[in-house]
Amino acid sequence: MGSFEMFSQTGGTTLSVFAFLFLLFAAIYAARNDSLLSPISYFIAAIVFDLFGVLFEKSAVSAFEQGSSVEVLIMFELLMFLASMIFMMLSASSFINGSSKKDVSFLPVWTLGALGGGAIVLFTLVIPAGDIVNNMRFIFPLVSFIYLSIGLASRFSSSHNSGFVLVFGVACGLVVIILSKFFGIYTPWYISPFSYILFAAGFLLMSQNICAEKLDKANQEIVKYNHRIEEIIKSSPFPIIISRLGDDRIILANDNAAKLFGINQAEVDKYHLKDFFADSDNRRLLLERLEEKKEVQDFDVLIKTPESDTPFWLLTSANIIDYNYDLALYSAFQDITSRKNRETLLQNQATRDPLTSLYNRRYFEEEVKKQIIKAKDSGSHYSVLMLDADLFKRVNDTYGHKTGDRVLIELASKAEKALRDKDIVARYGGEEFVVFLPDITAEQAYKVADRLRQSIASIVVHSDDNQEVRFTVSIGVSSSDISDNVDMLVKTADEALYRAKQNGRNRVELFVKEDLQQFEKNGQQVNKDEKRNIHPVYDKENTAEISLLDGVDAKDIGLKLDKE
Ligand code: GH3
Ligand code: MG
Ligand code: MG
Repeated sequence: MGSFEMFSQTGGTTLSVFAFLFLLFAAIYAARNDSLLSPISYFIAAIVFDLFGVLFEKSAVSAFEQGSSVEVLIMFELLMFLASMIFMMLSASSFINGSSKKDVSFLPVWTLGALGGGAIVLFTLVIPAGDIVNNMRFIFPLVSFIYLSIGLASRFSSSHNSGFVLVFGVACGLVVIILSKFFGIYTPWYISPFSYILFAAGFLLMSQNICAEKLDKANQEIVKYNHRIEEIIKSSPFPIIISRLGDDRIILANDNAAKLFGINQAEVDKYHLKDFFADSDNRRLLLERLEEKKEVQDFDVLIKTPESDTPFWLLTSANIIDYNYDLALYSAFQDITSRKNRETLLQNQATRDPLTSLYNRRYFEEEVKKQIIKAKDSGSHYSVLMLDADLFKRVNDTYGHKTGDRVLIELASKAEKALRDKDIVARYGGEEFVVFLPDITAEQAYKVADRLRQSIASIVVHSDDNQEVRFTVSIGVSSSDISDNVDMLVKTADEALYRAKQNGRNRVELFVKEDLQQFEKNGQQVNKDEKRNIHPVYDKENTAEISLLDGVDAKDIGLKLDKE
């Protein structure tokens, strides 16, 4: 008999063929896993040799019935069973070796093959011995499946072993069946197709076991990788935070980051990274950059924490990384508050007046130019106020220069507080201030200026010897009705200011279109009081710069640009 007597009973042939094909397909599918390729290939080879053995057995039986000689056929039958056993042993050894690359040792196999082959030739051809031949028919498959069971048992220790256990069970079952057959107990025909199907199922399960094992290994690698990242992050001298990209939750913060951001490390996942951004636009820009490039180097972020009263600047480098099966943002920080403060200081020095902290004239002119372009685009009005402290020389002379300075500071502060955020207040020079009021007509600006004048008049400053010092201002108003050129606006506001001084000070005068003709005719200077400070705009009056846009308006209102 062979390991399986599949073709021995005609009733089961069709089912056996289907079961065998199913086993083949399952074997091919499972052998795609590197570690299953050789054991399964050897197993299939063993089955094929077994089938050949069975075919020789059939031929021997029919030859015997016809009275022909059967020794050679029986010899081939047994040689096939021997080969089947050898391949089954190789399969078992490969199962034991698992996925390790070193292959099974062939020396014992060849030795066994030579000995078995010699015995077969001896007992079939040289000294034919029916009993021994009969025993061989049982011993070969018996050894095959015992060996296979041992090979499979070696795989029980792995965490995913259902396939190996199933095939082990089938092999053990076959050992029992072969033994019972040896002792003459009847074995039904369907044992072979049934075993094939169970083997096939076992191989499919094995394939799944191997995949699950690989996945386990990959997971272990990820855990190791994350652990390594954590170690690196913990030992970094820089504050580092890892946050999940999906929901922005913080996953990890090293000691330095916890200290800097005021994070309790035990409950990091309670925090969202965005809560620490003081400026949402700043954060949006960072995310946009990250979306583009997946990493951002040296990006300035403005950070706030529950513990810090004022936001502070950090320099960050951020990368998108894989972390714990998630996309995460790795951000390393560097405190650059002092550098930022220095930058801000330098910027302020360039744009601010040191005494009053108001913008300086240069900033005013640049900014107003931009605002005028915007206003023209949207077709809105705007106005300019020129403001000068009245008889300020007298304040200085009476109370001293220091008190004069205090007056200027209070005046500046009042003007800034009284006006809107979008209004631009600047110190134009000495005791002169200039204001740009967007979205305001000349008439509205006149009212604003008058209210400003009144509130300035209510300021009380104390001199060094604690005397009350009160003061007033005169204000000249010009507007988009007159010009869209900042120089021209300042000049005409100054002209109106001059008129306010002439008309008794502590008052507001509006420069209107009708004033333009006289203004131009007088070369823009005739009203200048010799005593007044000549400010730089007037210094270059003869090269009056009037923009092209200004020219269009000027023509409309009949302004003559050429000097007479
Ligand atoms: P008017 O009403 O015509 O403007 O008279 P005024 O005295 O204000 O005009 P004038 O131009 O004669 O005087 C301006 C004075 O402002 C002269 C200058 O000493 C003083 N001044 C200019 N800048 C400062 C400053 O920064 N601090 C102090 N304390 N005084 C200043
Ligand atoms: Mg003055
Ligand atoms: Mg002045």
